[in-house]
Amino acid sequence: MSISRRHFLATGASLGLGWTAGALVGCAVGAPKASLLAPGVTRVSLGSLTVTALSDGVRSQPLDANFVRNAPLAAVQAALAEAGLATDTIEVPFNPVIVDTGAQRVLFDVGNGEFGAATAGKLLENMARAGIAPASITAVVFSHFHGDHINGLRNKAGAAAFPNAKIFVPAPEWAWWMDDARMAAAPEAMKPAFAATRRVFGPIASAVTRYEPGTELIPGIRSMPAYGHTPGHTVFNFEGGTRKAMYWADTTNVGALFVRNPDWAVMFDMDAEAARLTRRRIADMVIRDKTLLCGYHLAGAAIGELSNRGTGYEFTPMTA
Ligand SMILES: [Zn+2]
Repeated sequence: MSISRRHFLATGASLGLGWTAGALVGCAVGAPKASLLAPGVTRVSLGSLTVTALSDGVRSQPLDANFVRNAPLAAVQAALAEAGLATDTIEVPFNPVIVDTGAQRVLFDVGNGEFGAATAGKLLENMARAGIAPASITAVVFSHFHGDHINGLRNKAGAAAFPNAKIFVPAPEWAWWMDDARMAAAPEAMKPAFAATRRVFGPIASAVTRYEPGTELIPGIRSMPAYGHTPGHTVFNFEGGTRKAMYWADTTNVGALFVRNPDWAVMFDMDAEAARLTRRRIADMVIRDKTLLCGYHLAGAAIGELSNRGTGYEFTPMTA
């Protein structure tokens, strides 16, 4: 998809609208207050539910011309500069979420574990800071099977990080990645991703619950298909009697690029056009329903407000 000159003009024209961020958090009707339990741990109470975002750290890498597949590098650098970020490197944060329903303690995605950058794999450390024991997690729910979301389930020695958790995976994601014929036919560059799914899920294959996206997994937690980033990418709605919340996983990668420019495709989107349509559909839904948003690669507290901004959107993390 080409980005038209008109699109850039429209985006440019909106720049003057500025940064209404702080006001948005303060003005939102019934906005819950976030509390910062520790650096990298943010908690919000939503009626009968508690939502906690925990940092698994970050990965920094030189900004590659292909990081955004369908925008010129200069436009990507301009977007980073506008957000006050470095323009020669890209920093991708990782933020798993825990939802406590009273009856269940549910972890959504598990971070990099011992398999990512030295600056990542911090989930267990931040859980300890938050006073959440790994053995107290009753369910682990996966949004999709990319390594930064699944690798922390099992360490290099093979031990399960969350020994008492029931494991939920999206059925279409399982069907796609666990297909041996597809792995055999995949390009060499994709083989490590297939191998990771087998390392993580192979030993527990028969015990894993494969859910159909769209179903309620646990009372108060409903899954919703959000295909495109991967074939079975799924997001989750939480309802605790007050305000709605959503964990949208990789509906966007870093906000400064893909929330603000939802038509841009990150290099990890497996079906870029489907991901683009999903991104706009879900973002519009979040804004319409005044849903509080959590995102795996969003910045700051990774819990916050979504609003319209020019031809795209703006994510404003909550402050404690
Ligand atoms: Zn991801």
